[in-house]
Amino acid sequence: MTKQIQFFDTTLRDGEQTIGVNFSIEEKVEIAKQLEAWGVDCIEAGFPVASEGDFEAVSAVAAAVKHTCVTGLARARKGDIDACVKATAQAAHKQIHVFIATSPVHRESKLHMTKEQVLESITDSVTYAHQFFDIVEFSPEDATRTEHDYLCTAIQTAIDAGASVINIPDTVGYTNPAEFAELFQYMQKHIPSFDDVTFSVHCHDDLGMAVANSLASIENGATRIEGTINGIGERAGNAALEEVAAALYVRKDYYNAEDNIDLKETKMTSDMISNYANMPVPRNKAVVGANAFAHESGIHQDGMLKNPNTYEILTPETVGANKTTLPLGKLSGSHAVMAKLHAMGFKVDREEMKEIFPIFKDKADHTSIVSEDDLREIMKQIKKVVA
Ligand SMILES: [Zn+2]
Repeated sequence: MTKQIQFFDTTLRDGEQTIGVNFSIEEKVEIAKQLEAWGVDCIEAGFPVASEGDFEAVSAVAAAVKHTCVTGLARARKGDIDACVKATAQAAHKQIHVFIATSPVHRESKLHMTKEQVLESITDSVTYAHQFFDIVEFSPEDATRTEHDYLCTAIQTAIDAGASVINIPDTVGYTNPAEFAELFQYMQKHIPSFDDVTFSVHCHDDLGMAVANSLASIENGATRIEGTINGIGERAGNAALEEVAAALYVRKDYYNAEDNIDLKETKMTSDMISNYANMPVPRNKAVVGANAFAHESGIHQDGMLKNPNTYEILTPETVGANKTTLPLGKLSGSHAVMAKLHAMGFKVDREEMKEIFPIFKDKADHTSIVSEDDLREIMKQIKKVVA
């Protein structure tokens, strides 16, 4: 039977926890709209109680997005949940994401709570959240380092209190695909209501296995994948959602899964995040790297000319990497601007760029993305018409 996989994007929350990354509210709204165009099912727009800025960003995204579900993050506390209720008030579709740590090291060193106290907190917070949200997602933080039997008890407690999505976070990027698969098989056996709820995963990439772990969970009962674009996030980052989407597409024969992602929007989405986060995508990065579709060796080039199937499992067209989609902003160089102008039909040379580029820079300093309209305006200023 074909599975339906939901994509849950946390680029605006976990992604923004990347050191040095700070999206403005305007950028967050633009990113959310692009994520909606890409086809994600749920956007985690922030952690409303954390700061005024986060609260405003979640509110702005909730108001801007039309079809995609919007969620805020909340600790298992009334104040956090109340902030999420207010911040998502304008969303057409919404849910809440409540979490509390369940592993021994988090219980003892961070929360100073006993197992029983954590269970009580789960019941109280999920019950409270369920009064305001039809969909309550619950995460036992550091799930992969939690005693398996206690993890199952905690999850069943959340389901009994009204949670309908259970997210299994590999918070510290500790697990591996085989072990993660075993954990899912264990949960299937030991959580009486396993089949009544949606299982989600949130994998970190500390050992480079976030995408592999996410895919292993799909084979073992998870139907929602959390992650970020370009894999940005806390420490080594999260599962790169574009890689999960590409794997499900290329290996449909194996995963037998459907999703709502419009792969053609992938490159555009990746470029936007890279630009706003000021984090260049490594050239050899899977799916969206500049070299992902470049063939260097003579033998490979010869094979490609004879039959692209020899060395290509995914075409650049499929992920929208065939056209220049690089958004122009304050970090763009003169060469990129010139290439864009050429694509728009302006025949400008390097000499003319010396006049154009400073005007572009000035514009880019005042706006997050310089649009084609802005470029036309600049060209009008210097009285250059389309050739
Ligand atoms: Zn995380």
